[in-house]
Amino acid sequence: MLVLVVNAGSSSLKCQLIETDGKICLMKSLAERVGTEEATMSVSFSPDFSKQRFSMTNLTVAQCLAKLLDILVAEPDSPIRGLKDIEAIGNRIVAGGEYFSSSVIIDQNNIGDLKKCEELAPLHNPAADECILMMHEMLPHTPQVAVFDTAFHATMPPKAYMYPIPMRYYKDYHIRRYGAHGTSHRYAAQQAANLLDRPLSDLGLITCHLGNGASITAVNHGKSIDTSMGFTPLAGVMMGTRSGTIDPAIVSYIMRRDNVDYDEMDRILNKESGMLGIAGFSSDMRDILQAASDGDENAQLAVEMYIYRIQKKIGSYYAVMTRTDAVVMTAGIGENSAELRERIFAGLAHMGMILDKEKNQVIGDIGINRVVSIDDSPIKICVVTTDEEMRIARETDALVFVATMANPDFAKDYWPQESAND
Ligand code: ADP
Repeated sequence: MLVLVVNAGSSSLKCQLIETDGKICLMKSLAERVGTEEATMSVSFSPDFSKQRFSMTNLTVAQCLAKLLDILVAEPDSPIRGLKDIEAIGNRIVAGGEYFSSSVIIDQNNIGDLKKCEELAPLHNPAADECILMMHEMLPHTPQVAVFDTAFHATMPPKAYMYPIPMRYYKDYHIRRYGAHGTSHRYAAQQAANLLDRPLSDLGLITCHLGNGASITAVNHGKSIDTSMGFTPLAGVMMGTRSGTIDPAIVSYIMRRDNVDYDEMDRILNKESGMLGIAGFSSDMRDILQAASDGDENAQLAVEMYIYRIQKKIGSYYAVMTRTDAVVMTAGIGENSAELRERIFAGLAHMGMILDKEKNQVIGDIGINRVVSIDDSPIKICVVTTDEEMRIARETDALVFVATMANPDFAKDYWPQESAND
């Protein structure tokens, strides 16, 4: 099945065309700085993925998506000749709130709930919803699926997802921990189970998604029982530009002292903090590691803080799991930085997570998952490559396949045009 995966952010749009039967990516696109004069979109096609750049000046995220479809139909290297070649659309949705505990085919019955989730991720969900409506206008009979970042964490028990603040905030505003990166944690846990040749349902895993955004999840018998991100993806460990969890009183203190308003405070914690806030010159881990080894003291401190917070989070999940069989490292930093893996696990050997320094140095080919702990390490350490787009495409394929089996004509009128604008 040819699936268009749409990942809409507040000012970015990432898309892939994936042929799910062969698990092959045929097209990748990335639009950045969307909504500004400088907005551009790179588009590349298999097999060589050499990028072409297109101007996206002053378009919304949904308009960029519409323009991408025009490009796909017009470009000679494109795998599609007409829009009808796209058989399904898989949308990444950051927040599914308490409405969605698994992926769904978007239809007239759930589009209203999807809209209600917008306030939970005001930077991301509205852009995704606009893309869904835009695609519905352009391709009204192409099924669309919503895959939620939060869904994997729907199994967390109340003691993990509730915050110790007055109950009315949960009841009135649904303030609770939802987590994020769920697609990646679920995928990483399954990949680790395959690697260890054990059923996921038998295992206790701590999955660490360490990219620009970072989160750590306790996966007990295949279910998320706790995760480091919270009501929003700002919580948890230190990230590229996000602070992670800090004393909440700091927020009101800075706002009062510097006369900072809510939006500005939000921006400081989301865009100016984390590794960038401490290192001062970059949020990119490669730059910071380089500067640290060149003697930059702020970069050294940022790396030490980053490692320390990850060690503490892994340790705290070890404490609440009924068993821990493996720690799983994934995403840009988790997959690629042998140095950080070595430094993180140097502090965790006493818990039985013993890294094999030589195996850890071996750079895996992309897509090759591996165990990097010593053979008799009581708790294994795995490195797995994450592929959120492939996972979204496959979930989309699976849901559409089942719906088509039940009713081969379901896509013809599964979501009447008029209900899209309700
Ligand atoms: P995103 O969250 O945007 O998907 P990624 O998962 O691609 O991000 O991770 C990006 C981060 O991974 C960046 O900080 C980058 O510097 C870091 N990274 C990638 N390769 C390496 C490497 N070899 N060593 C250290 N950090 C790396």
